[in-house]
Amino acid sequence: MKIILIGIQGAGKSTQGNLLTNKLNIPYLSTGHIFRDMAKEKTPMGRYIKETMNAGFLIPDDKTIEVVEEYLKKSEYQKGYIMDGFPRTLAQAKKFHNGIDKVFYIEVSDKEALWRLFGRDENREDDTLAAIRKRIALFHEVTEPVLDYYKEKGALVRINGEQSVADIHKEIMSKIS
Ligand code: AMP
Repeated sequence: MKIILIGIQGAGKSTQGNLLTNKLNIPYLSTGHIFRDMAKEKTPMGRYIKETMNAGFLIPDDKTIEVVEEYLKKSEYQKGYIMDGFPRTLAQAKKFHNGIDKVFYIEVSDKEALWRLFGRDENREDDTLAAIRKRIALFHEVTEPVLDYYKEKGALVRINGEQSVADIHKEIMSKIS
C-alpha cells in the first residue's frame, strides 16, 4: 500500500502518518525529515538546504526527486510506505511513477493551521512565522495543482482535518479498506 499525505503545515500529516504506520505496519517517510537531516551536513549542499528551508522555500524539483528516488530504493519501502511532504509540485508528481494507491488531502484552513503551529511548545529551527507563511502561500500556489492531478487519476481523498485526531484517523482508515 502506497499512501501520500498532503496538506499545509499544521494540518496533522505527521500525526496521522505515525498512526497509520503503526496500524498498517508500513514505513513512514517524510521529505521534511530527510531534508532536515541533510541540512545538518557541513557541506555546500547541506548549507544550501538549510538556508532554503529556513526561508520557507522549496528545494528544487530535480534535487527533491533525486533524493526521494534514492530513498525509495531501500528494501524497507518495497512493499509500501506512507509519504508525507512529497510530491509538492506538479513537476514532482508527474515525474513520480510509483503506483500510488491513495492520496489523502488533510484539509484545514490557514487560520486553523497558524493557531495550531503557534500553540506548539517546541518549534523547529525553520519554523519562524515568515517561513510558515511562505510555506502556506507556496502550498496554495504550487501544491494545489497536485491535488487536481491526483483527482483526475481517481486517487484523491479529501479529509476534513478540523476534526479530532481520532476521527481523522478513523476516516482515513475507512477509505483504505
Ligand atoms: P516539511 O517538514 O514537509 O514542512 O518540509 C520542510 C521543508 O523541507 C520545506 O519547507 C522545504 O524547504 C523542504 N521540502 C520538504 N519536502 C519538499 C518537497 N517535496 N519539495 C521541495 N522541498 C521540500
